[in-house]
Formats: sequence, structure tokens, C-alpha cells
Amino acid sequence: MAIKPFEKKVWLSTPTMHGEEQKWVDEAIRTNWVSTVGENINEVERLTAEKVGRHCAVGLASCTAALHLAVKLAGEKLYGQPKVGHGTLEGRKVFCCDMTFDASVNPVAYEGGEAIFIDTERDTWNMDPVALEKAFDLYPDVRLVVVAHLYGTPGKIAEIRAIADAHHALIIEDAAESFGATYRGVQTGCFGDFSVLSFNGNKIITGSSGGVLLCDEVEDANRVRKWSTQSREDAPWYQHEELGYNYRMSNIIAGVIRGQMPYLEEHVAQKKAIYERYRDGLADLPVEMNPFDTELAEPNFWLSCMLIQPEAMCPQVRGEQEALYRSEPGKSCPTEILETMAHYNAEGRPIWKPMHMQPVYRMHAFVTRGGSGRARSNAYIRETNFCDVGADIFQRGLCLPSDNKMTPEQQAIVIELIHRCFE
Ligand SMILES: *Cc1c(COP(=O)(O)O)cnc(C)c1O
Repeated sequence: MAIKPFEKKVWLSTPTMHGEEQKWVDEAIRTNWVSTVGENINEVERLTAEKVGRHCAVGLASCTAALHLAVKLAGEKLYGQPKVGHGTLEGRKVFCCDMTFDASVNPVAYEGGEAIFIDTERDTWNMDPVALEKAFDLYPDVRLVVVAHLYGTPGKIAEIRAIADAHHALIIEDAAESFGATYRGVQTGCFGDFSVLSFNGNKIITGSSGGVLLCDEVEDANRVRKWSTQSREDAPWYQHEELGYNYRMSNIIAGVIRGQMPYLEEHVAQKKAIYERYRDGLADLPVEMNPFDTELAEPNFWLSCMLIQPEAMCPQVRGEQEALYRSEPGKSCPTEILETMAHYNAEGRPIWKPMHMQPVYRMHAFVTRGGSGRARSNAYIRETNFCDVGADIFQRGLCLPSDNKMTPEQQAIVIELIHRCFE
């Protein structure tokens, strides 16, 4: 049977508005509260803190801004306030996830720190606690760990917390992709000393942009709130004792987020149904879905991903900018599947390319279960068969169209297209 390209594009993940957002945006405009002060921001802070189970939340312009201020706050707590023009982490090493979105990691560099990348584990595709332990052996002075929950799947955060505690290290928990997901019945965002959420356009709920920093001490929240509004002191004029930023959330954006909050659970349920349809529909192929701990974790299923078994991979080579593959009967590869989907007007995405493979971080250390290595190139991996977990998942995995407005019929066609790639 011939399949026709989708007339309307099937997306990876797009915003889903419900109408209630309009009410709060209109309310902000009607009452003239259109700056970075207002009831919508207060409500977003109240609702997110309540949902996650934290004492405090601070509404910010983006999750990247939230991560920056979380890193700065952690840096000051650990190492004190630097001179103006110097980062709080200057000369300091910080352990970060290797396979993640780079926004998770860049704020360490904004503050002058040096990210050391910790390899990924196979059970949840998140930071490997075994590699983290190894990293503390190699770098016993490190006091900060930045850890993300990829694609909405909670990592082994209790184990990571225990390791960090044993080494007197703070944790920044990047729950940008995992809002609504739980681990041992506790919301992600609850495990970090400081945690962050994202409301950018393709996250599980959105404000078009926006982020939140979560913590438990009112003093910390107030500190971040002050930094985010240019660090004005309580004086009759613009008085500044420390550097400021323009990072505060807008009350208009907050209106959109406020209107989305009641729909978080509905979106999670839709994303879960998508994941389960892929799991069932792909069960006869030599692939597996992105895994999670079925006993301890309840993901938010933000993106459904699949991983091709090694023996079912056709040859695929990726350079810095392009990819090549050779089709073989019974086999496929992420490039073939992504190109096929694109041809039919469906949007997939490669797995986050690991940070140790990124040119921008090429000189940074990378720690695997086996120990330490320098950042390695694709060519090195090819030539030596060296296989770190992150590079392997990047090579064999991909994100599938996971838009919550995709119909079961559309998804059935996506599943059929994947089957054809393996013919
Ligand atoms: C989206 C995302 C961010 C950044 O969020 P913004 O709100 O776009 O700044 C950070 N970390 C991870 C893991 C993300 O997926």
C-alpha cells in the first residue's frame, strides 16, 4: 500500500493551548499589569512550588536563566562572592550530565566553571551514578553536580543524591523536560538543592517561554528574585551592591503558564498513551523504547524515543554537520528513519548529541564507568570501537514524533513507516 505524505505536518512536540491561557493574558492587559510584576507571576510561583512540593519558586524568563542563577547561587554558597567581572565558579570543576541539552551545561561556563561530563547509564539514559562515584574518586574537590532528567524520565536521583551528600556536594536538578514526573512518588524538581523547570514552546506545558527556579529557603528565593531584576537595593534610587540580570518572568508569559497548569496531567496522560502505542506498535522490530524504572519512576513521557539493537543497525556515519548511511535489508538506522519521516512530513529528532562530542566542549574531561578519558571524536569512536554509553545511544537512538495532538491514525502511519525502514 502506498503511503501519502501527511498533509498537515506531524510534529515532534508543539504547544497545546486550551483557551484558559487567554483569560489570564487578557486579565493582565485589562488591569495593565504587563511588566515583570503581577498576579500571574505570583500564581505561577505558587502553583509550581505546590505541584513539585517545594517551599519557594521564582518565575524567570527562561529555564536557561533559572539554571544560570541556580549555578551562581550554588557557586556563592560554596566558594563565596567573587569580584565583579569574575564568575562564582572560576577555576572550579562541576560534574554535569554528558547526554543532555546544552542549556543544562552552559551556565557552568557562564560562571567561569569547567564542566566535567559524566557518562550515561542504560537503565534510564541519565547520569550514571557509578560513573559519578568514579568522578569523585578522580576529582575529590568537586562540590557541585548538575543533573537532568532526559525526555521526562527520572534518573537515579536518589542514588545521585546519596553520592553527592557523601561528598558534601550540592545538586542542581534540571527538571526542564520532566515536569510532572515522579521518582519514588516524589516529583522531580524536589531532589536538587536548587531545581529548575522550563516552559519553552515544546515542553510538556508552555508559556511560549519561561522558567522557574525551585528551592526551600525564602532567603535564597529572594536573592534570585533580586538578581533577576537587576539587583536593585532597597533605596530611593537605583542602588547596586552586586551584579544584576534582566531575567524576571513577564506577567503576560506567566498568564499563559497559569492557564496551562490545570492541563499538565492531561498532557502527561496523552504523552503516555503515545509512548504505549509506540511500544506496542514497534514490539515486533529489533528496537526498544527509551527505558524507565517501572517500579520507582512515573515519567511524564515528554518525548518517546527508540533505540535500534546493534545487530539491526545498517552502516551509518555522522560527521560534524551531516550523516550518511547505507540501507540494508532487515536493518535501519536513525538517519534513515529520520529522513523517511521527514519525507512523509513527520518530525523526529536525533538523541541529544553528548556534550563530550561537542566541539565547544572538546577539551573537557569525560568520565565513564571505566574511568576518565578526554573528549573523543566520532572518528576516534569509529576507529577504536571505543563505546561510551552516551555515544552509543546517540548513534542508535532517535526521538519519535510525540506531539500530543497526533492522532492514533497518524501514529499508526508513523509506526508503519518505521517498519518499512527495516524491510
Ligand atoms: C529545554 C531545556 C532547557 C532550557 O530551557 P529554556 O526554557 O528553553 O531555557 C534546559 N535543560 C534541558 C534539559 C532542557 O530540555
